[in-house]
Amino acid sequence: ATPSSEPPIKMRSVTLSNLSTAETKALLLRPVLNSLSMIDKVKPIVARVRTEGDAGLKAMTKQFDKADLTSNILLPPFATPSADVLSPNVREAIDAAYENVRKFHAAQVDGKVLEVETMPGIVCSRFARPIARVGIYVPGGTAVLPSTAIMLGVPAQVAGCKEIVLATPPRPDGSISPEVLYVAKLAGVTCILKAGGAQAVAAMAYGTDEVPKVDKIFGPGNQWVTAAKMLVQNDTDALVGIDMPAGPSEVLVIADKSANPVFVASDLLSQAEHGTDSQVVLVAIDLSDSLLREIELQIDEQARALPRVAIAKEAIKKSIIVKVGTLQEGMAFSNEYAPEHLILHLEDSKGAVGQVENAGSVFVGAFSPESCGDYASGTNHTLPTNGFARQFSGVNTLSFQKHITSQELTKEGLKRLGPVVITLAEREGLEAHANAVRVRLAAMDRE
Ligand code: NAD
Repeated sequence: ATPSSEPPIKMRSVTLSNLSTAETKALLLRPVLNSLSMIDKVKPIVARVRTEGDAGLKAMTKQFDKADLTSNILLPPFATPSADVLSPNVREAIDAAYENVRKFHAAQVDGKVLEVETMPGIVCSRFARPIARVGIYVPGGTAVLPSTAIMLGVPAQVAGCKEIVLATPPRPDGSISPEVLYVAKLAGVTCILKAGGAQAVAAMAYGTDEVPKVDKIFGPGNQWVTAAKMLVQNDTDALVGIDMPAGPSEVLVIADKSANPVFVASDLLSQAEHGTDSQVVLVAIDLSDSLLREIELQIDEQARALPRVAIAKEAIKKSIIVKVGTLQEGMAFSNEYAPEHLILHLEDSKGAVGQVENAGSVFVGAFSPESCGDYASGTNHTLPTNGFARQFSGVNTLSFQKHITSQELTKEGLKRLGPVVITLAEREGLEAHANAVRVRLAAMDRE
């Protein structure tokens, strides 16, 4: 039981049907990201990398990560970390996760040529090619994140990207964590950039003497990383793409009376421990007071046993239980919220998937915890947050490919389509366009 001096770690509860439209709208909001002021802060860092190159990069790595480097990069072959720095059980776990993520992402490679004859003699096609040079950011400030290295390195590898630059902040002795190094080796990373934050993003966006310039930058990170990605994406000098806007991680759990309160609480907490700004929502479908109370007790009890209880507590305090009457009502709310992670604890969880319109990744049924997708089942964990699941997909193999279209017209095809193009070009006042067709039609007439 909770000692009387300490208030319970408890989520706020609301009944959806009692709320006004404005109140419901407010529930759907995430904490505001002050991206404009962060962009102003990263501007001098990015500018320094552009003007001072490798020397500026080294100076900032010394300042922010306390590492005194002789070179900013590490090139393959990467040594396999020995058993005393990477224990066999961790190595085997990385191998198993790598293999599942590889299987799922290799199956997504678009290797087909799509061909459609739109009119006799006119064939349009579309085919995919890998993005040649990609940069993947693996956060390293406060945690070791080999899972992120897997989630970004594997799709780059199976898509066939020629150059894969993995950027991660070095440890104060200048080394890279053995877990990340091991994944870099498995995923065929071609260069490790030992730098973090905005300076790492800038180095990959513009290139330096040591660091290869990349075409697209992927990966989560703190607000320095996110702001730098947004800044370089908008600079035509950099000519670089990014995966998606990132924000604090979030989960929405939908539970009905069949739900196991221990499992539900564990899922909510596995998200809450990410950070104090994590978003945790429980949509409770017609739950009895006793089941709701049991879930609340479990949240309190399980949270107190966590090493990261302080973080989970802050996140839970800001989180909500949304009580609804029916599955339809719950699903409609979830689709409006567009969660990064959606977990279904329902009598017919599988049947409910058909009603999911907006979500980054779905976890179906009592035995599919989010943790499995976070680490090792095969799906990617780099997912849209902040409601961006409405228009963005999570990172996948196609994020590392681009599509090229092509067309081939026969003489007959051009005879058929030419008059249409001439009419439209004349209507738009683009005579040269019309002429490019006319000269060919005239040449055919002379034959
Ligand atoms: P990080 O690698 O993102 O950032 C560390 C770097 O930040 C340092 O190298 C430094 O260059 C820079 N930095 C820190 N303070 C600075 C300052 N005052 N001025 C300039 N630069 C500064 O590592 P982190 O800080 O531990 O953050 C990791 C983030 O990644 C967390 O926010 C976490 O939630 C997120 N994350 C998200 C996912 C996901 O899939 N959504 C997965 C893993 C991590």
